[in-house]
Amino acid sequence: MTSQILAKDKKAISSQGDFTFEKLLISGWEDVFKITNEKKGLLAIIALHNTKLGTALGGTRIHFYDSFDDALFDVLRLSEGMTYKAAISEVGFGGGKSVIIKNPKEKTDDLLKAFGEAVNILDGKYICAEDMGCTTEDVMKIRTKTKYVVGLPLDTSSGNPSRFTAWGIFRGIQATFTKLYGSGTIKGKTIAVQGLGSVGELLVEHLFWAGANLIIADIDNEKTKHIAIKFGAKIVSPKEIHKQKCDILAPCAMGATINDETIEELNCKAICGCANNQLLDKRHGEILKEKNILYAPDFVVNAGGLINVAFELDKEGYNPRKSKIKIDNIFSEILSIYEISEKNDISTHEAAIKLAKYKIEYGIGKRKEKLYFHHLDKND
Ligand code: NAD
Repeated sequence: MTSQILAKDKKAISSQGDFTFEKLLISGWEDVFKITNEKKGLLAIIALHNTKLGTALGGTRIHFYDSFDDALFDVLRLSEGMTYKAAISEVGFGGGKSVIIKNPKEKTDDLLKAFGEAVNILDGKYICAEDMGCTTEDVMKIRTKTKYVVGLPLDTSSGNPSRFTAWGIFRGIQATFTKLYGSGTIKGKTIAVQGLGSVGELLVEHLFWAGANLIIADIDNEKTKHIAIKFGAKIVSPKEIHKQKCDILAPCAMGATINDETIEELNCKAICGCANNQLLDKRHGEILKEKNILYAPDFVVNAGGLINVAFELDKEGYNPRKSKIKIDNIFSEILSIYEISEKNDISTHEAAIKLAKYKIEYGIGKRKEKLYFHHLDKND
């Protein structure tokens, strides 16, 4: 997905109180900030990839990376993915993402509040939300310092996006079966789910009720056993899940799980899951095509969470029915991407990127309305 990564040219540094903002000039990104606040133990990156269709919106990942460059690599890939996800689903937002370099077990209220201050210093250029390592409760702490947050556990906000993401993946799976077998029926089909977190577990539940045969894996053994009992699923080890003979493999854990090593071991007819950046490199999309494995591009099928948080900033305020209706459209969106791929003899990943870039170029789905932060208290 990214070709210009780590092309750091030069830096502009500015200080605001205890904060230092270093602007990393990276070809292809509008703005990338390295933010430090030593007093509060904050080291974060906020990456704004493209805002032609609207303000940059994307989650805040809290993760302990081995190096700063690993964190930068991640946030650049994720923010670029957000641009395409927002463009494809026409939510009127641009692509942004942030990472806080910290073991999530060590996060403190002070750290989260400091991150909130940093977001506020950007004065609306970036809107954050929950992501891996950052819960909706954490986002509430960030909110004490900035209004530029979404997905709060409040009636005036949209809450945890995971249920909506899981529903979008379910619709993507129905569309993928329609393409593979001429019918979206899930009953009797075998689906292997890799990762049973906020989205993975809910997806397993939807698939259970639809009558799928389930194979599951997670690095958390206790959770895996519990879910296997609840939904009558077969457990395999995390190292074996991608090798399972199945109709669909649903990657719902970390990114880059489709790589040179795993791609040779796949035994599925299609891939459709929620993990961001499932392909290590875009050439893996081409290899999947050669192997006749249908790939549902992650940023198309996992847009449910983004669609849901986006609606809370509309004038009328959050309405889950609107989100559900728009997320249902993932079914037809993914079918058109399969068609573009087939007609142009390109990978489904490339087809989805081309469609997103087309929408950005012609301003399709660009936000015209201003943003309404309904979660603000009267005295905020
Ligand atoms: P989560 O942290 O709740 O769950 C991830 C799960 O994967 C955990 O249970 C973890 O134990 C498991 N896991 C980690 N490494 C594993 C491995 N090697 N093998 C098997 N399991 C492993 O995260 P989530 O919110 O469910 O999100 C999952 C993925 O979907 C992430 O890539 C995230 O960026 C992406 N995503 C999530 C949302 C959302 O609404 N939550 C939206 C879009 C994309």
